[in-house]
Amino acid sequence: MRLFTPNSVNWQDNKQAGRDNFLYDPKMSLENIKELIQESNNITILTGAGMSTESGISDFRSPGGVWSKYKTVTIQEFISDREKRIYYWKYKSETIPSMLKAKPNHAHLAIGKLDQQGKLFWLLTQNIDGLHEEGGVDKKRIVRLHGTNREAICLSCNRVIDIKPVLERIDMGEVEPKCEKCGGLLKPNTVSFGQGLNPEHLVIAEKASRECDLFMALGTSLQVFPANSFVDVAYSNGKPVIIVNRDPTPYDDLAKYRLSESLAKILPMIV
Ligand SMILES: [Zn+2]
Repeated sequence: MRLFTPNSVNWQDNKQAGRDNFLYDPKMSLENIKELIQESNNITILTGAGMSTESGISDFRSPGGVWSKYKTVTIQEFISDREKRIYYWKYKSETIPSMLKAKPNHAHLAIGKLDQQGKLFWLLTQNIDGLHEEGGVDKKRIVRLHGTNREAICLSCNRVIDIKPVLERIDMGEVEPKCEKCGGLLKPNTVSFGQGLNPEHLVIAEKASRECDLFMALGTSLQVFPANSFVDVAYSNGKPVIIVNRDPTPYDDLAKYRLSESLAKILPMIV
């Protein structure tokens, strides 16, 4: 239920539903969140597609998103079926260039600022667009849960290379690029269907959620496991949770503060 639309900001009013931990007075709550961030020194942030929509990258799960235009290719199909590999690289070469041209928005820059202030503990992202690095967050502090489209990886020798020269090779007529060192199959360095997440990433993400002093879930619908489980880890360890997402999430009841406003508008106001 939304009762407030002050200054085009949508606020979820949950106080009337008896949930006092939710926002009621927008001005007061913004100040509260700002204070909470100022008091925190080890903030863990989980981000999803909503982070990048204002950089012109559409949520690939939404209607008109990548998944509605292209058939999915599992990792098993990619390895065993040449036709599937060719198809996969064709769609990647059609979709990655626009992603590489996208610029970080004010929300990315605000998180970059948190890192420069020494307040960011870990950034866990489900995004594969590389815009957090561009937005000023130290690469070493980012866990890319679903990998990145800015790199390709050799499935044989695990060598990681920049995606751009690989895309150029496709433009020149190669249909299934191979590793120049060992001849193995190259694939964009993202987690494909049928492929597990990197176990090391999961260990760091769990620790990041458990040992932070504030947990923020930004632009994620919290529908995908295990990313959503990190909210549970933070909450069950007594850490305050802030959720900012356009649509409701299954974890809203756990949040100390819950906003549904544009991240590019909100984050610069509270960081
Ligand atoms: Zn190789």
